[in-house]
Amino acid sequence: MSQNLEDCLFCKIASGAIPADIVYEDDDLIAFNDIHPQAPVHILIIPKRHVSTLNDLNGDTGVVSELSHRATILARDAGIDEAGFRILMNCNPQGGQTVYHIHMHLLGGKQLGALC
Ligand code: 5GP
Ligand code: ZN
Repeated sequence: MSQNLEDCLFCKIASGAIPADIVYEDDDLIAFNDIHPQAPVHILIIPKRHVSTLNDLNGDTGVVSELSHRATILARDAGIDEAGFRILMNCNPQGGQTVYHIHMHLLGGKQLGALC
């Protein structure tokens, strides 16, 4: 699965063309609240560089490390680190991916249920 950069929703959020409730930004990453939160804390963390799916990382493991490192900091900032939280990434249709620009979900603030 892939998507044109011009049509990519999260590229537009990263460039500021589409507004989002941004909670963190640096040169490489941006994090913003999910528009349809599934938990009291539901933040999406994305690389600014467009990568469609986890299958397209081609061994660039640094991206996922950066996303997860930022997720733990955001969890601490949100006060959910000790109670617990979940990070997850969906890949392609059967994995539940709906936006084809890789993103990490940070979920917490309530007791989370089973994965599927
Ligand atoms: P996926 O299903 O691809 O893993 O996750 C995509 C996420 O993006 C969903 O949780 C969905 O609610 C969120 N989302 C979709 N469109 C928008 C948007 O325009 N703004 C924000 N902030 N989140 C969005
Ligand atoms: Zn994109």
